[in-house]
Amino acid sequence: MKWEEGQDSGNVEDRRGLGMPMAAGGGVIGLLVMAVAFYFTGDIRQAKFIADKVGPIVNKAVPQRPAENRSVERNDRTLEFSKKIMGYTDKAWTEVFEIHGKRYQKPTMVLFTDKVDSEGCGVAPSAVGPFYCPASRKVFVDPSFFDELETKLKGSKADFSKAYVIAHEVGHHVQNLLGYNTMVDQFRKREGENAGIRLELQADYLAGVCWNRVERVRSIIEPGDVESAITTAKAIGDDRLQKSAKGWVNPESFNHGTSAQRLKWFTEGLKTGDAEKSALDRFFNPNVRPLDL
Ligand SMILES: [Zn+2]
Repeated sequence: MKWEEGQDSGNVEDRRGLGMPMAAGGGVIGLLVMAVAFYFTGDIRQAKFIADKVGPIVNKAVPQRPAENRSVERNDRTLEFSKKIMGYTDKAWTEVFEIHGKRYQKPTMVLFTDKVDSEGCGVAPSAVGPFYCPASRKVFVDPSFFDELETKLKGSKADFSKAYVIAHEVGHHVQNLLGYNTMVDQFRKREGENAGIRLELQADYLAGVCWNRVERVRSIIEPGDVESAITTAKAIGDDRLQKSAKGWVNPESFNHGTSAQRLKWFTEGLKTGDAEKSALDRFFNPNVRPLDL
């Protein structure tokens, strides 16, 4: 995927290293413990698990210093990539909204480490994975999620996986602007947790519609990108969700549908780019059960 040529979004907040007060296993000590654990175990998940257990014990004995480099504007690949991908989604959705006589209000993306105040959806640990908070209209991503994708998928495939995850979260923002995120409430009584599948599959579809617009201008996606993006994002997402902290209502905690469903709808959006009301309302047809979508 060639992502380097687009316009930057001005709406990416870099909060990495600003740390909410010491997350479990976070901070310099946590990282050290994790590095040592990784050295011995060779398994990054296990290392994180050990750091989470040992970090707080060690931290108690060490006086905390405020995070340094607070105001340093980072200029690295993750930040650059995030700005570009958000730039693509901004441009695509601005065009689609204009076609339908509406004005697109751009969301903000926040990069964070360990924990983040979502400004309306509670304080979230990075274990919940990428998510969108409708109250603050912000997409939150701890780039360690991206690192895991990179470990699983080398090179350009990982880039498209990351872009897909961002576009999916931006899809939730579009749902927020169009009112679909509250529409799902009527289905919850009857369908319970499965009602969320409607929103998730629509978000995948919207991500496809978004990339359809991007692809009209420049050819970015390569063969196999789509399948590997969805398979990997789902595998990591499910694993992450099991680690969700208690007391935190994760907007991404409901069932996302099967990989086949997600692939089907992302591909459909990508193929058609159809953002007409009838195309979007399909996901909220009371005659079609979410598992049959
Ligand atoms: Zn989602």
